[in-house]
Amino acid sequence: MSANKSGICHICGNEGPLSYEHIPPRSMGNSRPTKSYRVADIAEKHGTLDVKRTDGVHYHQQQRGVGFETICRNCNSYLGRHYVKAYARCISELGALLQESKDDKGCTGIHLEAHNVPVLSFIKHVISNFCSTTQPGTMFDCRDFLLDCESRNLPDRYRLFMFLIPEGDSFISSGWMKILLNEGGLKTANLAFIATYPVGFYLYDTETSTAEPDPARYGCEITSMAKTAMGRRAMFLSRLALYDD
Ligand SMILES: [Zn+2]
Repeated sequence: MSANKSGICHICGNEGPLSYEHIPPRSMGNSRPTKSYRVADIAEKHGTLDVKRTDGVHYHQQQRGVGFETICRNCNSYLGRHYVKAYARCISELGALLQESKDDKGCTGIHLEAHNVPVLSFIKHVISNFCSTTQPGTMFDCRDFLLDCESRNLPDRYRLFMFLIPEGDSFISSGWMKILLNEGGLKTANLAFIATYPVGFYLYDTETSTAEPDPARYGCEITSMAKTAMGRRAMFLSRLALYDD
């Protein structure tokens, strides 16, 4: 393995060697060569934010699975100890439910009840993935939420949305990007995006956006799950939309 890159950890802010963090976790099969795309490259090539348009778009082929060298070893191992298993369990449950519902054409959304998913850990894992894939220093306010596994204080400026990705094996992320929307005048949305089969997420920063996030566009809002008590294992999602333009 090559020497670790050095830099500022995106979670704790300490400077030092950064470790390779697999997203999604290596234990979920993310160890094969995988194509990793950036939304900005899709936009540049096709003039759209439609993440299904990866044809002809520049990508990184990541030989040992998709990952980022943006957080330090201490943070990486804390996340690994506390959140990875919860995330993997939830995703495998979601994947199974998605397979079951695939024949159900014309359904506009999936109602999901997962009964053995540690909800708070799942949300923390997702937020840590956004820390890893967004610009350094932009999410230091999530440090306590992530490094104290019982904390329920996700800063108020964030709103988190989830949607289903019915197929595919590539990984797509965006970092923070500002989008102009025409909603009775020009408004801006500042958001970050992560997607890989079977789910994707939008993280919306209300502080730097002038538009209200539109659930029809971003999927099912799961922000309130960050307030769930540690140990609660049931998750209810309604109208979890399939990603479709
Ligand atoms: Zn760190």
